[in-house]
Amino acid sequence: MANPNRAYADNVSGNFFVDDTCIDCDLCRQIAPSVFKEESDHSAVYHQPDSVTENHRAAMALVACPTGSIGTRRKVDSRTAAASYPELIDENVYFCGYASPNSYGASSYLITRPEGNALIDSPRFARTLVRRIEEMGGISLMLFSHRDDVADHEKIHEHFGCPRVIHQADARGINAEQLLEGEEPTALDKDILAIPVPGHTRGHVVYLYRNKFLFTGDHLAWSDNRRGLIAFRDVAWYSWREQTRSMKRLLDFPFEWVLPGHGRRAHQSQDAMHQSLINCIEWMERTK
Ligand code: SF4
Repeated sequence: MANPNRAYADNVSGNFFVDDTCIDCDLCRQIAPSVFKEESDHSAVYHQPDSVTENHRAAMALVACPTGSIGTRRKVDSRTAAASYPELIDENVYFCGYASPNSYGASSYLITRPEGNALIDSPRFARTLVRRIEEMGGISLMLFSHRDDVADHEKIHEHFGCPRVIHQADARGINAEQLLEGEEPTALDKDILAIPVPGHTRGHVVYLYRNKFLFTGDHLAWSDNRRGLIAFRDVAWYSWREQTRSMKRLLDFPFEWVLPGHGRRAHQSQDAMHQSLINCIEWMERTK
């Protein structure tokens, strides 16, 4: 619960505020960009919501915030916002919201499918979200991009009984039911391809769904500032050189969506995305 006595001074006055527990994960700025903005190392409210839509988006940010750092000075009914997750992105792919502090506010995603729904990385185990996912058919498969974004996977596994998939190199301490090995892509079923991309961690994996949606964890994201795809040099825990090499291997795969754990989403035509990936690789090669 956010504390108004610890609200940042750079919040504009009004109902919504951000307090000093913010970990600067960026989610609120993605969900309600007309309300929240970045201030050095944290978010702050720069415009108080003044329409039904803006109030709803601000409340959705409040619900998604991993650290409960967003608060209101007056009581607001956030039930509609709470029930808005999973939020549709495109076709049958959803953003789960409800980020966890254990994954530093990483985004997680749900694919609904007749053959069984798949969850990519783990949200917070929140009762409202779990109920909504139950209504949408539950979870049959849980896919991890890497060891940092597993959050509440034990509770989700227990609740839904879904097998978990992670690369062996990232599996220490995680009781996954299926371990990926090596660097060759693995077809998990007819629609989902697991592509190992060592770099951020040794066992990082991206998942390609229907040659359209690429779930990229912390391997690849969009930068609004650079207007292109980026990787995060400062957090290449395993090897930036390996990450650059892994990025080149993605040139063999078609995709239109980049859906990351951290960083911004992107949607472009396949050709435009391919060119963005080439640009990203050229930038990575210059960034030793
Ligand atoms: S969602 Fe919460 S933790 Fe993340 S930047 Fe916004 S206020 Fe900070």
